[in-house]
Amino acid sequence: MAIATVNPTTGQTERTFEPHTDAEVERRIANARAGFEELCRTTFAQRAVWMRAAADLLDSDGDDIARTMTTEMGKTLAAAKAEATKCATAMRFYAEHAEAFLADVPADAEAVKAKNAYVTYQPLGVVLAVMPWNFPLWQVVRFAAPALMAGNAGLLKHASNVPQTALYLGELFARAGFPDGAFQTLLVGSQAVAGIIADDRVQAATLTGSEGAGRSLAAEAGKHLKKTVLELGGSDPYVVMPSADLARAAEVAATARCQNNGQSCIAAKRFIVHKDAYDEFTEHFVKAMSQLTVGDPMHESTDVGPLATEQGRSDVAELVADAVEGGARVLVGGEVPEQDGWWYPPTVVTGVTERMRMFQEEVFGPVAALYRVDSYDEAVALANATTFGLGANAWTSDAGERDRFVRDLQAGLVFVNGMVTSYPHLPFGGVKNSGYGRELSAVGIKEFCNAKAVWIG
Ligand code: NDP
Repeated sequence: MAIATVNPTTGQTERTFEPHTDAEVERRIANARAGFEELCRTTFAQRAVWMRAAADLLDSDGDDIARTMTTEMGKTLAAAKAEATKCATAMRFYAEHAEAFLADVPADAEAVKAKNAYVTYQPLGVVLAVMPWNFPLWQVVRFAAPALMAGNAGLLKHASNVPQTALYLGELFARAGFPDGAFQTLLVGSQAVAGIIADDRVQAATLTGSEGAGRSLAAEAGKHLKKTVLELGGSDPYVVMPSADLARAAEVAATARCQNNGQSCIAAKRFIVHKDAYDEFTEHFVKAMSQLTVGDPMHESTDVGPLATEQGRSDVAELVADAVEGGARVLVGGEVPEQDGWWYPPTVVTGVTERMRMFQEEVFGPVAALYRVDSYDEAVALANATTFGLGANAWTSDAGERDRFVRDLQAGLVFVNGMVTSYPHLPFGGVKNSGYGRELSAVGIKEFCNAKAVWIG
């Protein structure tokens, strides 16, 4: 895949970039190692000063970098600005809390026959981050903010279609005062990843993206016994029970499905509705989906922009065509418009069966599969009938049912009466083929730390 900015609104290539040469990659890895040696000897207080400075820079660059993101991958400008703000918030969160999250944890010294015993958290070293284009700033910052605050150095291999955002991030942390090699961008294609993981100066890797990319990176890391965190796809269920506020559930459902033009790992993708709520929910939901404004993502009034890549748009169109061929019915949307750029309208499909690809595969676009079920048990069985396990949404006002959903849904995140979202305060990650490990919160910052047991006699 060429490293280029191709505007999904027009389909035009705006800029192309030469990948870094092997010599340049080598120079940056050496620089990362030196940056780590320097960074890991600094105090939390010092790193917090730099992290807050990075947040301030991001606040002031917000409008510009938002336009770059919209140009590179088509999210609405409003969503891009909100993403920049969210990143600054996460940076400040870790500047404030990292030291407490990584404070020594005393152990029972007497039980282990020591004068003193405790666990201390130390950074692992240089971490390679392989990142996707869908939240070009946020996916990177939610790795970088805790990793740098813990004292790790980062090497970013960003998706090939967001090079300008990648280059911006590569400069941001140095501009904020972090040592030169603490965080750098490698402008390389995915074929370079294996060689970087194999390098002795790289201790760990994290990847957000497709299941295939995750498996490939984990296999390489496994060969070299390097720690990995994987945040892969999702096919999140959105279960609606009769006791829910159905109008509200339907309104949020449209946002949950079409956020980021439908290209979010935690977007709700399968809408599983109890028969006693089905007709009313469907009416509200189809209306909400059809009322979304599709158009130029730079315009304030736009809700849904184009899909990020031509390939992504054909993948979505193929999944819908496959379902329709198998007998599914389109309630709204479902037609690729005849215009430049990679558009796909908000779409609702019913009658999806196990024989259709959409039943199992992640649909990375604004397409909702709507299912009708007879009972709680059937709803949970269908919600869990996926190889993924990232997020799950459930709507009910029955407290008993709520607790059962929390217990029964196989997912890394369960949101009741609201849509799955990421917050710096809560762990983020999945089970099953959605990956392993966690980002964010106190749990995420420890992923790239050595929990060193200390025994003093
Ligand atoms: P990919 O998983 O291919 O890309 C994500 C990142 O991984 C990019 O930096 C990419 O580099 C890199 N990469 C790809 N293949 C490998 C590999 N074999 N080894 C190492 N790194 C690799 O996502 P796509 O953009 O191709 O999207 C395909 C599907 O992935 C989507 O339709 C969606 O289902 C899922 N996806 C999920 C995301 C999530 O947030 N969970 C985000 C993006 C996609 P390069 O760009 O150079 O190929």
